[in-house]
Amino acid sequence: MNYNLHQYHILDHQLEQTFTDMTNLSAHICNAPFAFISLFDEQRQWFKSQVNSDINSISSDIAFCAYVSSLYQGEILIITDTLQAENLHNKLLNNIPAHIRFYVGFPLKTSSGDMLGNLSIIDYHPRTLTEQQLDGLQILGKQIVNQIELRRNLATIKQTTTTHKQIEDNLKFRLNQQAVVATLGQYALMGGNLDKLMNDTLILITKNLQLEYGQILEFMPENNHFLLKAAIGWSQVIVGNTLIPGGTNSQAGYTLLSEKEIIVEDLTKENRFTPSILARENQIVSGISVIIHGRNNPFGVLSIHTNRKRKFTEDDVYFLQAIANILATAIERKQSELALEKSKDELEMRVKERTAELSNLNQRLQLELAERKQVELALREAKARFSGILEIADDAIISIDGKQNITLFNKGAEKIFGYLASEVLGKPLDILLPKRFTFSHQQNVVQFEQKNANARRMGERAEVFGKRKDGTEFSAEASISQLEIGGEKVFTAILRDISKRKQSEEELERLNRKNELILNAAGEGIFGLNLQSKITFVNPAGARLLGYEVSELLGKSIDIILTENNVNIHQFFPEKLVMQVRNELFKREDGSSFPVEYISNLIEEQNEIVGVVIAFQDITERNKIEKMKNEFISIVSHELRTPLTSIYGSLKMLGSGLLSSDPDSSQRLLEIAIDSTERLMRLINDILDIERIESGKVVMSKHICNIEELMIKCGESMQSFADKFKVNLIISPLKEQVNADSDRIIQTITNLLSNGIKFSPEGGSIWLTAKKEENHILFEIKDQGRGIPEDKLESIFEKFQQVDFSDSRNHEGTGLGLAICRSIIEQHEGKIWAESVLGLGSTFYFTLPLS
Ligand code: ADP
Repeated sequence: MNYNLHQYHILDHQLEQTFTDMTNLSAHICNAPFAFISLFDEQRQWFKSQVNSDINSISSDIAFCAYVSSLYQGEILIITDTLQAENLHNKLLNNIPAHIRFYVGFPLKTSSGDMLGNLSIIDYHPRTLTEQQLDGLQILGKQIVNQIELRRNLATIKQTTTTHKQIEDNLKFRLNQQAVVATLGQYALMGGNLDKLMNDTLILITKNLQLEYGQILEFMPENNHFLLKAAIGWSQVIVGNTLIPGGTNSQAGYTLLSEKEIIVEDLTKENRFTPSILARENQIVSGISVIIHGRNNPFGVLSIHTNRKRKFTEDDVYFLQAIANILATAIERKQSELALEKSKDELEMRVKERTAELSNLNQRLQLELAERKQVELALREAKARFSGILEIADDAIISIDGKQNITLFNKGAEKIFGYLASEVLGKPLDILLPKRFTFSHQQNVVQFEQKNANARRMGERAEVFGKRKDGTEFSAEASISQLEIGGEKVFTAILRDISKRKQSEEELERLNRKNELILNAAGEGIFGLNLQSKITFVNPAGARLLGYEVSELLGKSIDIILTENNVNIHQFFPEKLVMQVRNELFKREDGSSFPVEYISNLIEEQNEIVGVVIAFQDITERNKIEKMKNEFISIVSHELRTPLTSIYGSLKMLGSGLLSSDPDSSQRLLEIAIDSTERLMRLINDILDIERIESGKVVMSKHICNIEELMIKCGESMQSFADKFKVNLIISPLKEQVNADSDRIIQTITNLLSNGIKFSPEGGSIWLTAKKEENHILFEIKDQGRGIPEDKLESIFEKFQQVDFSDSRNHEGTGLGLAICRSIIEQHEGKIWAESVLGLGSTFYFTLPLS
């Protein structure tokens, strides 16, 4: 059986005239009613052509010819009479239809050995074939095989042609793709608009690959999303603002993740990643995505899609990747371009700034130039004036050249130095300087030149000394300046004779110092006020009296030391120059006030009143003394008048002669007069005594005295007085010595003893004792008298102070005794005091220092 039959492309064709003709010819040659060409494949027997039959094919299991062919491969089978053919195979005989008596099966075998089928001739009668008929059949058979082989060759040629065409188409396609790549490459190289390039790229790819969708996604690593940069097929509205998730949530994300191209054949069955909403909404089925690489990180993904199911070849992937690479190059180039542009812009900006700076500078320079011109003009004018000034100036103006020779010597210089200009011009400067300064001065000029300073003002430097023609020296103030004229240095000094000024300055200084000393030494307060009543100066005594530091008062208003009742002080600036004020109050820093007396004097400067100076005194003490004096006088006058009145009265009575006949009364009057005179004498003595002691007129003549003797003497002198009062006097002398005025100490002790006696009851005792204590001798005079109220223990030591008992006048005291005692003891630097219990007695103590 021949199964290669298909490759001959002769089955299932319409009847072909060539084969029909050849079948007819074979029937004709054999003179038989039937002839046909049958071809065999695995299932059927095909009738390629037939004479007097219209069957196309029959099943092979019933096909007689096919069977014949399989039995007699390549050999001709001639059955002259089917009924007589006993040697034929049974099955074969069974297959032969009953009405067929004669059968010739001529094999159709190709040169390559393929058994294609038979050329069969059939007759209803038994018969034979002649030699010629057989030859003819053979020729025909060969022709049929040739024909069939021709068919096969034709088919092969046809097939080859088709393949050729396909290859050609494919080639064309790839060529087209290469052209696309080349075109895009060119676009990219041109470096035009990147968005346009992306768009053009997508148009070209989708067109080339015949797909509906194309997109370029830019990866944004900061949020792991892609931005739809360019798209074809998608709505243009979403371009530039649509985000597509990265990672496994989109094909693009998965592409970056897997770092290679991703081909999707059926998105609905995709399980490597979740398709993006965009892809799902647009019912994308197939597609490829490739990475658009960047220099360091990928730029993004280029992908193409279709709604149809489609297979992609490796070439498609290569193509897409090539495009993506071109895009990558273009993007990178664009990015570098942008960076370049940016730096170019920056550079331009800097150039602009610098240009602006330069033009500013230029403007400033122009301005300076204009100013300089003006200055030059002014200088020229000044120079013209200067030459005039030079001559009339009182100051000496002297110029020297670089060699320190005099080149200019004006009238002022002539006046000051006593030289004529003609005498000094060209001479060295040294002739104008005291010899001891010449060297240091030369050095100074050199230093000044080196410092390159232009000028130094008067008084800026230590004073200089000049030497006149007559050899005398004078102190001067100088300024020096240097100028370069015609390449040579010229120094010009302006010199002023300040010897007179210095003299007066020194005088002034001296006076100031003196004034300051006087002010500081003055016991009274002195301060100055300006016209605004602000304190302009104050001496230390003034500040101290007011309770301030000097610095605290300066600049303050006078009001801070005034009390409400100060009215006069605001009239410090009357027309009269001097004003004296008494009993005003000034306020101290702590708020307390004190009485003052002050004199104010106006301060005049150049006939103008500029302020006032006030000298004040704290008169608290003076007031106190005044008061005491007044009190004293009133008491003394009273105390003196009393005995005087009684003397006067007694004498007047005696003088009237009325009592001449009454000698007793006269005698009593005389005694009264004598008593009063004695009291008056005592009083006057005491007053004088205390006055002299207090005023220091009585000097204590201190010497070493024996206390024992002293105490005994006191006892002796007071004994008769004690007897008179019937009072016991008990003395306990102390064997000790002390440096004192013994008379005054005796006066003190006797005074205290007499008081004790006076104020003791009859029969009472008085004790005089003394003891040595650490650094003094303590005397004690104790009585058993009436005692002294506690509030009077201190005041009894003041003048004329007596405890006002009803019988006080009986004792005829002056009230000065204790005051005299205190004065004496204080002059000895001791202390005196009293202790007492009313009704029981008093003890008076005093101390005398031992050294
Ligand atoms: P005079 O005794 O002359 O009055 P003094 O100065 O000696 O003056 O005394 C002042 C006053 O002190 C006395 O008048 C008396 O009132 C009181 N006094 C002094 N000594 C005693 C004393 N021993 N006892 C009581 N009173 C005394």
